[in-house]
Amino acid sequence: MPELPEVETIRRTLAPLLIGATVLAALRGERPEDILLDPWSMFARRVRGRQIVALERRGKYLAFRLSDEGRLLIHLGMTGELRLSRPDVPPPRHCHLGLVLRSPYPLPVTFIDPRRRFVLRYRDIRRFGRIGLLAPEDWAALSQRLGPEPLDPELDALTLWQRLVHRHTSVKAALLHQALIAGIGNIYADEALFQAGIHPLRRCDTLTLSEVERLLTAVRSVLTAAIESQGTTIRDYRDPHGRTGRYQFQLQIYGQRPGTPCPKCGTPLERVRVAGRSSTACPRCQPLVCNTPCSSS
Ligand SMILES: [Zn+2]
Repeated sequence: MPELPEVETIRRTLAPLLIGATVLAALRGERPEDILLDPWSMFARRVRGRQIVALERRGKYLAFRLSDEGRLLIHLGMTGELRLSRPDVPPPRHCHLGLVLRSPYPLPVTFIDPRRRFVLRYRDIRRFGRIGLLAPEDWAALSQRLGPEPLDPELDALTLWQRLVHRHTSVKAALLHQALIAGIGNIYADEALFQAGIHPLRRCDTLTLSEVERLLTAVRSVLTAAIESQGTTIRDYRDPHGRTGRYQFQLQIYGQRPGTPCPKCGTPLERVRVAGRSSTACPRCQPLVCNTPCSSS
């Protein structure tokens, strides 16, 4: 499932191609109504002629900012993919819709045609993704409902600790809760908790400020390294050129079978169920008891 680093990689890949481009037409694929927030005919009519002025990301949402400050919003769900191609290349299976775009300038890419047109297609095997046109105030409201961006330098450990400390849920569930902190999913939550030495089942209201400092540092380090590696490809994730990420080769514990030796200490890893998701943790590096003096909380 694409998380912050994958969506950010897509944003960075598309930005130099899409900024300044105009949507010439929407192409109907298989069952676009499964993905679109509006009926197909309304979406196709409203998107035509719009110019993209910026590419933004908020949490796991990708947003094309349009000239009227509205947004073309894309959430990739579990298996959503955006793919660039020449206009004359037929769509792949499970392609729900496409946008024919015209660039204002010639681009040094093979998929642009002599009239500077290219296609951005959306395919999604499991169809949990969503695409829609949002008015500026709806985008602002959506953004407001999401928690802070973990890589925003304005976010400090004290603020994050204050958001966590009244909660009786596990820290893993809190990291997955997009209204508390945006953009983190199962992969990066497990990796960050391992790096911070905090058990996924630790209750938020037992975390000390110094543990939350460690956690925020770990979250940032994991997300930054994953963006540098263009994301993680376990199964489906590809960037808009069809390339896989490389962070799967740096994963420490996510997806490891229970009993596999911990990469830090060699203790057999264990699998725990948290918030309906499976998590991997090292019982020695991530002890479930609070091992820091609780007076500091
Ligand atoms: Zn360990």
